[in-house]
Amino acid sequence: MSDHYKFINTPLPYAYDALEPYIDELTMHLHHDRHLQAYTDKLNELLADYPQLHDMSPEQLIRYSGRLPSEIAVPVSRNAGGVYNHRFYFNAMSPQPQRSPSEPLAKAIRRAFGGLNGFKERFKDAALSVFGSGYAWLAADSRGRLFIVPTVNQQTPLTRELIPIVNIDVWEHAYYLKHYNERGKYIDDWFNVMDWKRAGELYAQSPRRPAPRQ
Ligand code: MN
Repeated sequence: MSDHYKFINTPLPYAYDALEPYIDELTMHLHHDRHLQAYTDKLNELLADYPQLHDMSPEQLIRYSGRLPSEIAVPVSRNAGGVYNHRFYFNAMSPQPQRSPSEPLAKAIRRAFGGLNGFKERFKDAALSVFGSGYAWLAADSRGRLFIVPTVNQQTPLTRELIPIVNIDVWEHAYYLKHYNERGKYIDDWFNVMDWKRAGELYAQSPRRPAPRQ
């Protein structure tokens, strides 16, 4: 599938109600059909008069935001972030998730966090720590080391030279209808639908260069 201007709002990879009872159907409709749609439409509108940017993916627009025409650089990076981050979030969940990581991701998680429970604890803390709107990410560096990274608004770890593995959207629109102001309960529910299979594939594809010899 082409992934450049004119962007389309790619469908969810599962039914709107498939993540029930953890994430409710109405939230998924509003989140995908209105919030992600709005970022997609706005990005198309911003790029309409810049044909030289029409072959760039959301990821490329984010990575190269410093070289975009200055009058659109900030809104393009925000809206490309809105598209990239939401697609990443929706694709990271599954109605039939793999419940724990496979190798080599499992080993990296043991090394970084002591194991899956250690990861969950640290990830939940990071997701709770985002003040206002944003995301928490599990990301890898070029040596395959894992980091938990909170980001605000529609920023991504891509601009920090990190490879995203998992993200959770903690903007209130991701959970308010079901969980009200209880972000912690939403995070606990989200752990039941996050898919370690997809995370493991992203990690396995990442560079993981060995550290240079001292
Ligand atoms: Mn969102």
